[in-house]
Amino acid sequence: VDAALEGTVALVTGASSGIGAATAEVLAAHGAAVALVARRADRLEELSARLNAAGGTTLVIAADMAYEAQVREAVERTVTELGRLDTLVNNAGLMILGPAAAATTDEWRRMVDINLTGLMNTTHAALPHLAAAAAEGSRRVADVVNVSSVAGRVAFAGSSAYCATKYGVVAFSEALRQETAGRHVRVSVVEPGAVDTELREHNSPEVQEALTRRFGSIERLRARDVADTIGYVVTRPRHVAVAELLVRPTEQV
Ligand code: NDP
Repeated sequence: VDAALEGTVALVTGASSGIGAATAEVLAAHGAAVALVARRADRLEELSARLNAAGGTTLVIAADMAYEAQVREAVERTVTELGRLDTLVNNAGLMILGPAAAATTDEWRRMVDINLTGLMNTTHAALPHLAAAAAEGSRRVADVVNVSSVAGRVAFAGSSAYCATKYGVVAFSEALRQETAGRHVRVSVVEPGAVDTELREHNSPEVQEALTRRFGSIERLRARDVADTIGYVVTRPRHVAVAELLVRPTEQV
């Protein structure tokens, strides 16, 4: 790990567990000051203490991505308290699986609110700050990294609403990429396969058993594997933009 992000500020949503927590750790190791955003403040405080003890600079922000006002405040607090914003990692997400006919529209709304609308609102709030950071000089570049999924590239029975949100993330990202490329604000999508995190725990026991049947016999990705991928994306030289990276466990078909 080098100091490629020294002097920069990152905001990571969903930093209280899994991929987001690991990503905050990787970005901090590269020298970025990191705003840690999620609802579970206790988990964020633990991570913050660990990163600070290792020499990092962090800011804990308890916010619910389903509420636009909280999203905007999280971005504004980051810029006010850490001074700027160079890197936005839109990672917060919710996955509730099952056949469409058995779903509640409330769980669909929550997934759209967090995985898609929350990501779009965070990006909207961050863009002026990212553009300002990238415009500071001939060596500057800013990044938006959106965490989609293999489910944003291939749709499966039993994951209709989740896939809809993740396909939406891919479409939003590609259109935005074209809009901001000329200003040196890079937009990337990272699409993980099965990762060993808490994501599945919001599902019914039946769905969790089905996931174990499907993925239980393979070695899943670790959160750190995806975090390293995100770290790779945001440490490329200024003239290199990684638009999209799909990363599966080796044995996942
Ligand atoms: P986790 O459940 O471990 O992490 C999800 C994170 O999102 C938590 O930090 C959680 O924080 C946060 N979050 C959820 N709801 C909200 C909310 N309303 N407001 C703010 N933060 C929220 O799962 P992962 O690390 O696996 O998931 C991270 C991303 O990776 C998600 O977008 C997921 O879809 C994607 N992904 C995961 C895969 C996997 O196999 N695990 C595969 C492909 C993609 P808190 O609860 O404290 O608010």
